Amino acid sequence: MSDKAVISAEFFPPRDIAAQEKLVRSAKSLMGLDLSYVSVTFGAGGSTRSGTVGAVDLLQNLGFDVAPHLSCIGSTKAEIAEILDGYQAKGIKRLVALRGDLPSGMGGDVGELRYASDLVAFIREHSGDAFRVEVAAYPEMHPQALSFQEDLEHFVFKVKQGADAAITQYFYNANAYFDFVDRVQKMGVDVPIIPGIMPIMNSSQLIRFSNMCGAEIPRWIKLRLADFGDDRASIRAFGLDVVTKLSQDLIDGGAPGLHFYTLNGSETTMKIVERLSR
Ligand code: FAD
Repeated sequence: MSDKAVISAEFFPPRDIAAQEKLVRSAKSLMGLDLSYVSVTFGAGGSTRSGTVGAVDLLQNLGFDVAPHLSCIGSTKAEIAEILDGYQAKGIKRLVALRGDLPSGMGGDVGELRYASDLVAFIREHSGDAFRVEVAAYPEMHPQALSFQEDLEHFVFKVKQGADAAITQYFYNANAYFDFVDRVQKMGVDVPIIPGIMPIMNSSQLIRFSNMCGAEIPRWIKLRLADFGDDRASIRAFGLDVVTKLSQDLIDGGAPGLHFYTLNGSETTMKIVERLSR
């Protein structure tokens, strides 16, 4: 791994005390990896807003540089401004700015900021340069996009609204990432694009997530997972090999860092990072 490659980790807000204790244990064990920052997800429509703030406090108290995720869909500018001011007052220096998805039952009320690009522009208008802003990128195309080219153009526009970096949706085909980076760089993007890494720990959960977010699981991986059936230990060992190789290929090919979707665990992320040659 080059000296410049950064490692970051993503958590979601815990729903009860036991989950909170697990999050703290995981975050503490990941401290040894010298993470550049940790991020905390935000529920669509603000449904877990207080959960996000609680987890941000917890992680900040452990000494991490924390990047709360913030999604804009379904919110007013005043609501977003209040959240931004609250984070600034806490000394938060980074944000992951997203559109989010409307929860079912909210009809078509998208709120005052329709796309993540509107949110990035609003953050810059309201908070200036108080935050380093990361946005989402989709090397295999956002599932609702009408065409790949149009999705790339929307991504480029979003970055130009003032994003400092991007984190990708997860993928298992390194070429999808390299092709995406190459194409958006040719369209004028010069910010770091950090691959999002999803460890493989549970086959049915991974297949469900991937169907929802449009991430492709290559056929050979699906077939191997199917062969393992309920043998969790073999799935984990296989997943560790696949995702470690992917991570190494990404770093060797010039990715500026890796962002781990930890699912609030630490073991798999630790093992992958420890296996990478630096
Ligand atoms: P956008 O960049 O706004 O894009 C959404 C869609 O709109 C794309 O298809 C794009 O092509 C299209 N589009 C953009 N601009 C225009 C335009 N001007 N005209 C027409 N179409 C346009 N979700 C959460 O709820 N909470 C989280 O914490 C969270 N964290 C995430 C972290 C990462 C790293 C990633 C990759 C995703 C995360 N998501 C999260 C999921 C994300 O909210 C969804 O994928 C959502 O559907 C899109 O969000 P976005 O910010 O990528 O949207």
